[in-house]
Amino acid sequence: MKVVRSVEALKEARAELKGSVGFVPTMGALHEGHVSLIRKAREENDHVIVSIFVNPTQFLPGEDLEKYPRKEEADRRICELAGVDILFMPDASAMYGEDEVTVRAPKYLGYILEGHRRPGHFDGVVRVVLKLFNLTRPTRAYFGKKDAQQLVILQRMVSDLFLPLEIVPVETVREADGLALSSRNVYLSAEERQKALAISKALKRASKMVGAGELDVARLKEAMEAVLAELEVEYVAFVNRRFEPVEKIEIQNSIILIAARVGQTRLIDNIWL
Ligand code: AMP
Repeated sequence: MKVVRSVEALKEARAELKGSVGFVPTMGALHEGHVSLIRKAREENDHVIVSIFVNPTQFLPGEDLEKYPRKEEADRRICELAGVDILFMPDASAMYGEDEVTVRAPKYLGYILEGHRRPGHFDGVVRVVLKLFNLTRPTRAYFGKKDAQQLVILQRMVSDLFLPLEIVPVETVREADGLALSSRNVYLSAEERQKALAISKALKRASKMVGAGELDVARLKEAMEAVLAELEVEYVAFVNRRFEPVEKIEIQNSIILIAARVGQTRLIDNIWL
């Protein structure tokens, strides 16, 4: 595995790869969720590139940019064991200049739900991901359904900007008790972690109700809010795959999303129905 930090070194290493390339962008502190993306990329492509970059432009002032977990040594080993060809670990000065040309998230999709709570977040995401796509020139890029809105925005970027690659969605990996894996879970105390289980439980309850034929969003929401009663909920949202709000679940075309705070930690999770 080649570990490269500069744009020049990445370009050189990329130029040597022949055949298809799977790309997995991450912010590091890798867990089984990231590994499942890498594994899928490994299965479907001749080569795999992983990036680890805690992208400052997608953090808002006051968010956890400085304290975001960084585990460089462990991450390198995980990538090596997972069969990664190139690991790109730039610092911010390698990725950004001053007063740049920038792309932006779409006005609707980029400014509802997560975008409403974190204004500008998705602008930072599309900015960095476009740069990373241009550098790695992947055949396929792998993103988790855990970050549903991000995934849909990046699919839109690829189609709107005619980018020559495919975005591959990957299922959310969970702990045995249902908690969705996240690099931010390390912020949770034992007690908070227990409380956080309400998020996946609420999604599971909704999914069961839908399975039993309940498609009415108001009734699903009521049942979910009962499960979430102890958490500081930011939103429980019901959207179609274009992220338009719905009042009735349409099977194969709906996503239920939750954002909630547990202590100081903000968690998101969702289920695709
Ligand atoms: P991050 O390092 O949090 O920016 O995540 C990098 C990629 O891993 C994104 O595409 C995420 O959606 C994906 N990811 C994060 N958590 C999970 C999970 N529990 N299961 C599957 N994919 C995940």
